[in-house]
Amino acid sequence: MSEPDKMPYPKPRARVLAMKEYHPPLGCRDALRLDFNENTLACSPAVLETLACISAGNLTRYPEREPVEAMVAAHLGLSAAQVALTNGVDEAIHVLFETFLDAGDELLLPVPTYTMYEVYASGTDARVVAVQAADDLQFPFERLLASITPRTKIIAIANPNSPSGTVATRQQIAEIARRAPHALLLVDEAYFHFHGETVKDMVGALPNLIVARTFSKAYGLAGLRVGVLAGPAELMRWVRRVLSPYSVNSLALACLPPALKDTAYLNWYVSEVLAARTEFETALDAANIRRWPSRANFVLVDIGSQHAEFVRLMHAAGVLVRDRSNDPGCNGRVRITIGTREQMRQAIVALNEALAALNLLQPSA
Ligand code: PMP
Repeated sequence: MSEPDKMPYPKPRARVLAMKEYHPPLGCRDALRLDFNENTLACSPAVLETLACISAGNLTRYPEREPVEAMVAAHLGLSAAQVALTNGVDEAIHVLFETFLDAGDELLLPVPTYTMYEVYASGTDARVVAVQAADDLQFPFERLLASITPRTKIIAIANPNSPSGTVATRQQIAEIARRAPHALLLVDEAYFHFHGETVKDMVGALPNLIVARTFSKAYGLAGLRVGVLAGPAELMRWVRRVLSPYSVNSLALACLPPALKDTAYLNWYVSEVLAARTEFETALDAANIRRWPSRANFVLVDIGSQHAEFVRLMHAAGVLVRDRSNDPGCNGRVRITIGTREQMRQAIVALNEALAALNLLQPSA
């Protein structure tokens, strides 16, 4: 890397110079993908049928977001003015932060949490105020309330949270919104389908609540990149000023209606993952491996000092898992995505072999 002062090209903004690089480990993933909390199997077959019928006309035209946006809004029980489709929730977070975070503002973040909040905040002039969860990784409700200041501009809560899988209750979220009326409360419900509880019905009623949803997880469309931001119409008009009118591409727009319609597929996938999670948690308990109770399609486990070797052994056995040791308060912890029961049986075999190889297999008393 060149020294900023000696760069042979125009210098990026100071904020950008200070940003950390973020490279998700996406290379060589030709194995059982239990590392990114994706759907590990497939999307609805109706989506694949739609993709097979994409015409040149679909591709030569600029994508028109509004009709599909209205359909998604109706699906969520909201008005079109309350909903914006984005290029994944990542873009929703980026655009929301660009729209609202100014110099002197604070972004309040319970941590550990989803990495991209901090990454996008670091590109703004706002300050991140992290609120550390205790060792049980439960939502740090009281400490979060105590950290609200007049400068708090956005509070971002992933619910369920990643990497912990723990949740905030509806009452806690409503209370936070009330106690910080000068701030936006972003509730990121990326893993909603596995949890079943939402605050989407409070959108509009709470004037500062914004809810995000993604099609990347339960729907199995991470590659298409579609997210949803839902909030009061008055707030969403500012978000729309910053959001590109074309950021959701025409393939994604074509696929959303069949994906939304196929509720049978979605329900099947979610119930399969929940059954697999129970089996996997039983296997972890039998091996006496500490885990955190999860309401999402992943489980955080405590491997201890041999975490890197554990991840390597799992990879060698064809199972990708994600080391979260660098997350605040997560040293030695590894996050394992839950797939189907069949996939998780393969993961359990790999898990027990890796634990045995590391001398970590202590059957419970
Ligand atoms: N929010 C959370 C809490 C996530 O874990 C993720 C994905 N890892 C995202 C948002 C990003 O979702 P998308 O694929 O829609 O950008």
